[in-house]
Amino acid sequence: SVGKEELESIKKVFESNWIGRGPKTEEFEHLFSNKINVDRDNVCTTGGCTQGINTILEFLDLNKDDEIIIPSLSFIGIANSVVSVGGKLVFCDVDERTLNTNLNYISDVVTDKTKVVILIHYAGTPCEDIDEIARFCKDKNIILIEDNACSPFSKHKGKNTGTIGDFGIWSFDAMKVMTTGDGGMVYCKDKRTMSKLREYLYFGLITKSGLSNKVDDRWWEFDISLPGRKSVVNDIISAIGIEQLNKVDKFIERRKSIHDFYSDSLKNLDWLRVPLDISKHIKSSYYMYWIQLEDIEDRDKLAKFLRNNDIYTTFRYYPLHWVDFYKKLLSNKNLQNTESAALRTLCIPLHPSLTDDEVLFITDKIKEYR
Ligand SMILES: *Cc1c(COP(=O)(O)O)cnc(C)c1O
Repeated sequence: SVGKEELESIKKVFESNWIGRGPKTEEFEHLFSNKINVDRDNVCTTGGCTQGINTILEFLDLNKDDEIIIPSLSFIGIANSVVSVGGKLVFCDVDERTLNTNLNYISDVVTDKTKVVILIHYAGTPCEDIDEIARFCKDKNIILIEDNACSPFSKHKGKNTGTIGDFGIWSFDAMKVMTTGDGGMVYCKDKRTMSKLREYLYFGLITKSGLSNKVDDRWWEFDISLPGRKSVVNDIISAIGIEQLNKVDKFIERRKSIHDFYSDSLKNLDWLRVPLDISKHIKSSYYMYWIQLEDIEDRDKLAKFLRNNDIYTTFRYYPLHWVDFYKKLLSNKNLQNTESAALRTLCIPLHPSLTDDEVLFITDKIKEYR
């Protein structure tokens, strides 16, 4: 869903002779912060959601014994980030019908060593009790990070997800609701921390570089506040981001109408479940649509039947405690909802470029399966 508007704005960046991080990136951060209703000083662009989480965890300077809770039903890059900074990975369960975690499952695995919780809003639907989770974490001095990759413009009681916890991270990867090819955005509730994190995302530099450095002599001298990394986007990416921001409400509207059509067409089939209705105080980004098969046997068979009819389906996210690499690292007990959901859930196509005919074809084929 990128087109001539994006091409036109990339052309302007080329003509400006400034393709690195510069004015377009500043404009993008400004427009994005407006869109999610926060101050410009609370956000910063970054190379992607995984890079953002990785950088935040490094920045938090965790100890070896510190425990970080994530749902097992979560993205591989997040677990990798936790392990790569030397944190101890702890998996929590999810609700089988929403595939979101909640305060019960988090408190089940909290210990006095828990330092961070990283949750996702599955498929774009906000965690129902995100306010309670945030309050719980605050009381216990636990940092709450929202992986907001699925839910870029989702809202919970009027508040954009990603801005409810201490940190939120967006992804503009090629598959996401809004894309720049690759890219991301970090939100931090505390502006002073954000300003340090902004330095950290760019080598830890505390002096300006290039012509922005206005000192009279030896403008090549510099200092750093921290040994930071470089995880930024450039003005080509930001120019695409600005155009996508203009379009994204339309994308989400189209996603919603496909989502609603799927639910209407499939809700009366007694051999599958459609997602629960979305509550009134919640707004979804409609990142994924999924069905759950009553009979576990049906899931893989239906997936194959659909693929033989040129319909690609998948399951997100393959439980991390089933990934061999992570299986070895921990002994997990009670993730029964995660396991059950992982055996009966199937994500079917949902993106704004689907035509009405294609959507109808998909529901017809699902009905034809049985
Ligand atoms: C796509 C995705 C990511 C990764 O985003 P990148 O920008 O590609 O690093 C992280 N978390 C979730 C839940 C995702 O869906």
